[in-house]
Amino acid sequence: MKFNTKLIHGNLKTDATGATNVPLYLSNAYAHTSAKKLENIFKGKEMGYSYTRISNPTVTSFERRIASIENGLIATSAASGMSAIYISIMNIVEPGDEIIASSSLYGGTYTLIRNLKLLGIKVRFLENIDKATLKEAINKNTKLVFAETIGNPKLDVLDIDSVSKICKENNIVLMIDSTITTPYLVKPLEYGADIVIHSTSKYINGTSNSIGGIIVDGGSNKYMDLKYENFRPYTKKYGKMAFTAKLKDTIERDIGPALSPFNAFLNLTGIETLSLRMKEHCKNALTVAEHLMQNSKITDVNYPGLENSKYYDLIKKYYSNGSGGILTFRLGSKEKAFKFLDNLKLILNLTNIGDTKSIIIHPSSTICANNTDEEKQQMGVYDDLLRLSVGIEDVEDILEDIENALKYI
Ligand SMILES: *Cc1c(COP(=O)(O)O)cnc(C)c1O
Repeated sequence: MKFNTKLIHGNLKTDATGATNVPLYLSNAYAHTSAKKLENIFKGKEMGYSYTRISNPTVTSFERRIASIENGLIATSAASGMSAIYISIMNIVEPGDEIIASSSLYGGTYTLIRNLKLLGIKVRFLENIDKATLKEAINKNTKLVFAETIGNPKLDVLDIDSVSKICKENNIVLMIDSTITTPYLVKPLEYGADIVIHSTSKYINGTSNSIGGIIVDGGSNKYMDLKYENFRPYTKKYGKMAFTAKLKDTIERDIGPALSPFNAFLNLTGIETLSLRMKEHCKNALTVAEHLMQNSKITDVNYPGLENSKYYDLIKKYYSNGSGGILTFRLGSKEKAFKFLDNLKLILNLTNIGDTKSIIIHPSSTICANNTDEEKQQMGVYDDLLRLSVGIEDVEDILEDIENALKYI
């Protein structure tokens, strides 16, 4: 199947009734008539369900759908993007290990990784993660490189191919958060990433009606290396799927951040229209970015799809379908930025992205409020910066709202 067909039919599993939507199984547990069968399910010898924290038919359908559209081997869902990121990282690292991460990560992820030093895990944040900086930062303790396809809100575009080559040469696991690009725009596994993560709360769900996360495992032989000693029992038994086998057997089971079946059901509905929505998000975002460029009250319009963007070459290399739905711009001062926000009527001032609705936020005083000034600098967050997640309304209405609010500054 091709991509758009997979969004709708990929790994679809319904029940015997012929229902066209995946049924919503709101059941915590599953009865079996033979004790042997339940024993086999617990041992992983037989497919089947035991308890919804471990697995659930609606959730499994959603996981299979995402694995299919990302061209991954298997996917594991989680209660939120944050829990997906946390359990993925903790599946790899132990005290004494090192992580290399981009400094332009989503604020929550930046803080999560920074706080790992409390567990004896060292982190090196790189302002520009590329071949040269990565080579320089890697040492024998480096177990993981973590980056986003396009940083949020810095909107720097990752050169996935060249970063993954360095990771391969040094046998280091590469984990990529592709929340803001989605598999409609890019499939990082195809460029050598080992693990792809999404906050499904954003574009995958699409209409902001459920929080969730997902971890896609592309399969890898890297875990066979002596360095990943804690994977030994899993590489022996599960080979390339060692990451997911260990995840399910250890941290996921220990913490229990299961995606609710109801949220999986909503995500399965949302994902069907991913391509249609992303196409409009990208088109509207480019129109808005080009429009903002014309206004002298606005400085530094940052949208990687603009020809004057320093990331335009990377956009051309990886993003043939569009450049995403998010842009940032600066208004000269915090006061002006606030005045602009207070005079918007259609665009909503809130913390979220990837909704059908246009959404704006002042990152410095909100999502990055817990970061130090130095961190904000590295993250490309300034006091007069606004981040706009462009929705799929008629673009004329979005532009009119912006024009109107600009009159007040
Ligand atoms: C929102 C977001 C997250 C966190 O996901 P939640 O579902 O809110 O926990 C992680 N990474 C990126 C890039 C995000 O935009």
